[in-house]
Amino acid sequence: MQIIDDIKQMQTLGLEARAAGQTLAFVPTMGYLHSGHLSLLEEGRRRGDRLALSIFVNPTQFGPHEDLDKYPRDFSRDEALARSAGVDWLFYPRADDIYPPDYATYVNVTGGLSEVLEGACRPGHFQGVATVVAKLFNIVQPHLALFGQKDFQQLAVIRRMTDDLNLPVRIVGMPIVREADGLAMSSRNVYLSTEHRRQSLAINQALRLATRKVAEGVTSASVVLDSARSRLQAEPDLMIDYLKVCNSTTLQDTAVIDDSALMLIAVKIGSTRLIDNHLLLQSWPGP
Ligand code: AMP
Repeated sequence: MQIIDDIKQMQTLGLEARAAGQTLAFVPTMGYLHSGHLSLLEEGRRRGDRLALSIFVNPTQFGPHEDLDKYPRDFSRDEALARSAGVDWLFYPRADDIYPPDYATYVNVTGGLSEVLEGACRPGHFQGVATVVAKLFNIVQPHLALFGQKDFQQLAVIRRMTDDLNLPVRIVGMPIVREADGLAMSSRNVYLSTEHRRQSLAINQALRLATRKVAEGVTSASVVLDSARSRLQAEPDLMIDYLKVCNSTTLQDTAVIDDSALMLIAVKIGSTRLIDNHLLLQSWPGP
């Protein structure tokens, strides 16, 4: 595995792989790798002749009062995990190289996808995400890029951007990887105290409860939202940022449950913000 911090060098390697007819798979991350990230790398390794991983804690997707400075980082652990996942190129750029002082170009995905849910709670977040992903695509030159459905809205925004800008990258969405007790894996889980870790189980339990109601025949979004809300509100330190049932294509609210109905949850627990989601007509994975 080669560790690359230079943008030009990464771009040259990507272009050379393309010219040699090799398929280049790419997994962009902010590091502090867990099994969710590793599932993307495994699929990338399966689909690509070459596998690139980026680790970049992207400052433009964090709001002024968010956790950019304390976002967990452990490069040597990530390096070892990347090596054992069969990564060929670990791209680890410096923020000053990605955003030099005269940097002036941003990508905005409009039309409703970016403005709701995470976009409403975190103004500017998706501009930061779309900008860095467009830049990373131009630097790495992948044929395919893998993203987790854990960040469902991010995946939708990136698909829209890739289509709209005619970027020659195939976007692959991958299932949410969960802990044994159902909590969606996240680098931010490390912030949770034992008590908050216990209370955070309400998130996946609320999704599971909603899924069960739908399996039993409930078709009203407000009915499943009520039961999910009650489960979340049973935890004293858990504050709901949003709890929604949306159409999974448009991400607009939906009143009647159909194949595309997606429940999305964002909560704050102490100073940690967690998100999760589930397609309500899909059976719950695992126990
Ligand atoms: P992050 O490092 O949090 O920016 O995540 C990098 C990529 O890993 C994104 O495409 C995420 O959606 C994906 N990811 C994060 N957590 C999970 C998870 N629990 N299961 C599947 N993919 C995930």
